[in-house]
Amino acid sequence: MTRLYDSRKRILVTGGAGFIGSHLIDRLLGLGHEVLCLDNLFTGTKRNIDHLHNHSRFEFLRHDVTFPMYMEVDEIYNLACPASPVHYQHDPVQTTKTSVHGAINALGLAKRLKCKIFQASTSEVYGDPHVHPQPEGYWGNVNPIGPRSCYDEGKRCAETLFFDYRRQHNLEIKVARIFNTYGPRMHHADGRVVSNFIVQALTGVPITLFGDGSQTRSFCYVDDLVSGFIAFMDSEPEVAGPLNLGNPSEFTIKELAEKVIEMTGSRSEIIYETLPQDDPKQRRPDISAVKEQLGWEPKTELEEGLGYTIDHFRSLLTEMGYELTAL
Ligand code: NAD
Ligand code: UDP
Repeated sequence: MTRLYDSRKRILVTGGAGFIGSHLIDRLLGLGHEVLCLDNLFTGTKRNIDHLHNHSRFEFLRHDVTFPMYMEVDEIYNLACPASPVHYQHDPVQTTKTSVHGAINALGLAKRLKCKIFQASTSEVYGDPHVHPQPEGYWGNVNPIGPRSCYDEGKRCAETLFFDYRRQHNLEIKVARIFNTYGPRMHHADGRVVSNFIVQALTGVPITLFGDGSQTRSFCYVDDLVSGFIAFMDSEPEVAGPLNLGNPSEFTIKELAEKVIEMTGSRSEIIYETLPQDDPKQRRPDISAVKEQLGWEPKTELEEGLGYTIDHFRSLLTEMGYELTAL
């Protein structure tokens, strides 16, 4: 008979109070593991983990990953880093430190513990891509000195560190390049496009479309992404990545705005604002490598995922005292 203790692991999730981290923690606890959530609450909130307050296998530690971490765990998911352009540009020096010093500290911990470590990298390593869709072998087109560079170059340097720790210290690493992900618990004011459009549509204020709205993104629902994280962590040691994790269905940002208006029954008008500097014109993951190596692919269509996300924001905004004008 297999005892629970044989398969139960103690897992560290940095950035666990954030949008993706909190969903990952729910899933890991559901699988019977113990979870240590480490977060400095810069963009994450206690609200995202409030429901776990009395959970016997959950612990929260308020800590900044730019400082060393000392604990005993069996696996590490390194997610700590602001992800929305508005948030990561707020204190760009701290953003680079979080990616680079955070990676060094998390890798140092993994090296001492000889444990597996997963890195939440990003499609931003491809910058404004000249190859479309983006396969992992594409080295990208990234501006090293622009307003997005603190995030893009920080994440690129973190990838370098992960692969150097693998070559130099034989560490078991898992590097995932995450493409735009959305779902419940996105911060309502983080400026990302899905949360912005839904909040604007529900509160009846104009929908802010940057540029002419012809730029594209491919949106992955958070539950699908979390399944990919866990399949990757559980893969054979030689599967190190980098692997793209995202949904290959591509939409223009204008199509997204129209879909949100239609699904919320909103009367908000669309207004056009200046396109931010270095905003990528197109983005779609080539997911053939992850399909082949992990057998993973996303299952949730945009409309279904948007439905769950709209429901979430409808209750959140009502709870926060907003008067909702849409259906
Ligand atoms: P998020 O901002 O909701 O979560 C990030 C979490 O990290 C927050 O809880 C924040 O408080 C914490 N954090 C930030 N700096 C920290 C520090 N110095 N020390 C400790 N904690 C810190 O963002 P998210 O969307 O959940 O993203 C999670 C990870 O996935 C990030 O690493 C991000 O770069 C990556 N990613 C996300 C997307 C996406 O579309 N959501 C796309 C690509 C990559
Ligand atoms: N965007 C927009 N209106 C908004 C917020 C974002 O048109 O209110 C656009 C943004 O310029 C970009 C796309 O939506 O082209 C995705 O932006 P987001 O900040 O969500 O993520 P990115 O993929 O740019 O990191």
